[in-house]
Amino acid sequence: MPALLIVAWYIRKHSHHESTSLQTLRAATQEGMIEPPTLHPEIDPTKCIGCTNCVQACPEQGSHQVLGMIRKKAHLVGPTNCIGHGACKAVCPANAITLVFGTSRRGVDIPLVKPDFETNVPGIFIAGELGGMGLIRNAVEQGRQAMHSIGQLLKSSHRNQLDVVIIGAGPAGICATLAATEAGLKHVTLEQEELGGTVAHFPRRKLVMTQPAVLPIVGEMRFKEVQKETLIEFWRNVERDTGIKINYNERVDAIEPAPNGGFAVRTTRRNYNTRAVLLAIGRRGTPRKLDVPGEELDKVVYRVIDPQQYCNQRVLVVGGGDSALEAATSIAAEAGTTVTLSYRSAAFSRAKAKNRKLVEEMSESGRLRVLFNSNVKQILAEAVEIATEQGDEMIANDAVVVSAGGILPSAFLRGIGIHVETKWGTE
Ligand SMILES: Cc1cc2nc3c(=O)[nH]c(=O)nc-3n(C[C@H](O)[C@H](O)[C@H](O)COP(=O)(O)OP(=O)(O)OC[C@H]3O[C@@H](n4cnc5c(N)ncnc54)[C@H](O)[C@@H]3O)c2cc1C
Ligand code: SF4
Repeated sequence: MPALLIVAWYIRKHSHHESTSLQTLRAATQEGMIEPPTLHPEIDPTKCIGCTNCVQACPEQGSHQVLGMIRKKAHLVGPTNCIGHGACKAVCPANAITLVFGTSRRGVDIPLVKPDFETNVPGIFIAGELGGMGLIRNAVEQGRQAMHSIGQLLKSSHRNQLDVVIIGAGPAGICATLAATEAGLKHVTLEQEELGGTVAHFPRRKLVMTQPAVLPIVGEMRFKEVQKETLIEFWRNVERDTGIKINYNERVDAIEPAPNGGFAVRTTRRNYNTRAVLLAIGRRGTPRKLDVPGEELDKVVYRVIDPQQYCNQRVLVVGGGDSALEAATSIAAEAGTTVTLSYRSAAFSRAKAKNRKLVEEMSESGRLRVLFNSNVKQILAEAVEIATEQGDEMIANDAVVVSAGGILPSAFLRGIGIHVETKWGTE
């Protein structure tokens, strides 16, 4: 009898898991969320023995279902939630998992980087997720190692030139800045947004799974499981206690060879002359700007992290893609908000049906105002001016969210002359 009960419990548990996996896969397919953003497992069904080790090993499984079992074989059921931990491959006893970039439908650009992190352009190095390997620990390690290689290359300092410009203050850039400070290299670190890189954009209170890593000057970063806010706070303390300096809100627009050797790094504020450059810019790219007067005001942002922060505010969202529609509807759902969605075209033809429908419903019920064929003319402290089909309109405003797409790092890399390889589901 006890044996029968155990068998019944086992069958029930597995059929429940299978139906959840199928539901997750169907939802992902319906919403078009089928392209993994980075390194991800490709599972060979002829080798998979259905042991479920990979499903249990996936560190993301607690917050999202990434891997699931369907007909006793492992499947990537939540592809867009896979961030490339690679824990699944390590535990597979049947060697059924290969970690790959891109898929047969969507290529992923990976820059060619030598083992010392230098690219094909001598003096330009890459560390962190931009090089293909995701995860905070890898970014930290690579930031440290790449700066060590740069230090080896430079040996002595030049009087009128920086030794290195570090671009990006995510995990790789922070660690590289610590390493440059420790090595006594003349450097600046430039960050277009804020400290923490992609981590600063994680959803509120996201549980971050990481591995201990060594930070120059500071010592071991001991975290394994940590809330996003605690990790950002840790880095703020590191910045304060070590005295490292990061130039925030300064975006690098171009890197060109300098006439006297080295590079001219052009930013939104000035030019820097440097002997080496470390690109620690991740893979999210640079948000496209509106280029209108007032865009430099603090109330203008390019991503929504927490819709709740807009409670009781008058918000303008600009754009017509999924991220703009999601930003507008999530903010409009918050108490006391007055939301206007401005788009320069006549219809949201690029957005998913689900998002279009929600915008339509909210617009009909008066929760959201949509202005098609409109363009922002200027942003003022308490208003925005918009050119509409009916003429120019001044709207009272507390916050602006620009979701107008972005410039991908691969275009930036190619512009500098760095070789980039497109991977279509290959290692
Ligand atoms: C939803 C999600 C969840 C994740 N969860 C985890 C997790 O639990 N554990 C884990 O280990 N990893 C996780 N990751 C992956 C992890 O966040 C990244 O691998 C890591 O942040 C990469 O660090 P990085 O320094 O290479 O790049 P990033 O963190 O992306 O930082 C790059 C920085 O460069 C700046 N920049 C870009 N272009 C320019 C420019 N032109 N000028 C100036 N600055 C520029 C950006 O603003 C950014 O601050 C997750 C990723 C996502 C998307
Ligand atoms: S660990 Fe390997 S064998 Fe086991 S379910 Fe996953 S892919 Fe299949």
